[in-house]
Amino acid sequence: MIDREKRLDGSRIAAAIRDEVAAQVAEMCGRGVTPRLDVVLAGDDPASRVYVGSKAKTCGELGMESMTHELPASVAQDELVSLVDRLNGDPEVDGILVQLPLPRGIESHVVLDRIDPAKDVDGFHPANVGLLQQGRPGLVPCTPAGVMEMLRREGLEISGRRAVVVGRSDIVGKPMAMMLLHAHATVTLCHSRTRDLASVTRQAEILVAAAGQLALIGPDHVAEGSVVVDVGMHRVTDRETVERLFGNNPKKLAAFERRGAVLAGDVDFDRVAPKAGRITPVPGGVGPLTIAMLMANTVRAARLRRGV
Ligand code: NAP
Repeated sequence: MIDREKRLDGSRIAAAIRDEVAAQVAEMCGRGVTPRLDVVLAGDDPASRVYVGSKAKTCGELGMESMTHELPASVAQDELVSLVDRLNGDPEVDGILVQLPLPRGIESHVVLDRIDPAKDVDGFHPANVGLLQQGRPGLVPCTPAGVMEMLRREGLEISGRRAVVVGRSDIVGKPMAMMLLHAHATVTLCHSRTRDLASVTRQAEILVAAAGQLALIGPDHVAEGSVVVDVGMHRVTDRETVERLFGNNPKKLAAFERRGAVLAGDVDFDRVAPKAGRITPVPGGVGPLTIAMLMANTVRAARLRRGV
């Protein structure tokens, strides 16, 4: 069993962020402005449906408005672009989020690039990517922003530290590296062609795993006492894998027996945690922070655009 103090409790930090956002929303509502997030859901991916549902629910809990625009998997790219245009032009809409992945045949870039950068609460528009790169204010991707918020709120030193990010996607790895760099870490970015990954990650004082590979990061990948942040999210349904990863973890095994699946990350938590100084669990680590930061981004977009 891991000592409680070692855990980086994303759920607790996300709850604090959500309370702050709710207070800001209440203040804005008092001035006649209710922040509104519009989500576009195209196709019938079950995971996307769950994510979109929880985003809408969180908006409601924080006093914000939300609207979900559901379109069939057969939707034409032009139709999606027209919907984005309409939302761009609607003064009541503060944030626009197009849930990924989009159905086959649709070029995500064409749709995402169409979003007004001032309403781009995912921070994926090239204009916002460029602002982040230059360290100028803009809307930034929610998952890495959540990781930064967690590190800061936990008082974990970033400046001067060696940080290694595993994964170079546009939505997590690259913006994560950029944010750590702006916070004065010395940053290394790894990917699938990195040779001898463990020898690089072992240099990390802060290690962020965002490779989308179940339990990629084992004890040989981490330095004693380091901060380990697990962005990965996997639903494990295979008994053999569950027993391999969680054989000594009665809680996880019981959860698997009950639900037929457990969630796990890119980090082999049970073997890495004894070596790490601080570590995020999955679930209850980075996931809740992502949605809290989406809410914070929507309020920020509303403030900036409406001048409140
Ligand atoms: P992605 O687009 O698939 O990118 C994965 C990255 O990891 C790529 O850059 C890839 O390298 C690299 N990679 C893959 N295998 C590797 C290996 N064996 N060694 C080193 N690098 C490797 O994934 P993503 O969208 O960034 O998401 C990453 C993970 O985070 C997924 O599990 C996703 O579900 C999760 N996620 C969680 C949240 C949350 O809120 N908790 C939010 C977003 C994503 P190449 O570039 O060379 O292919």
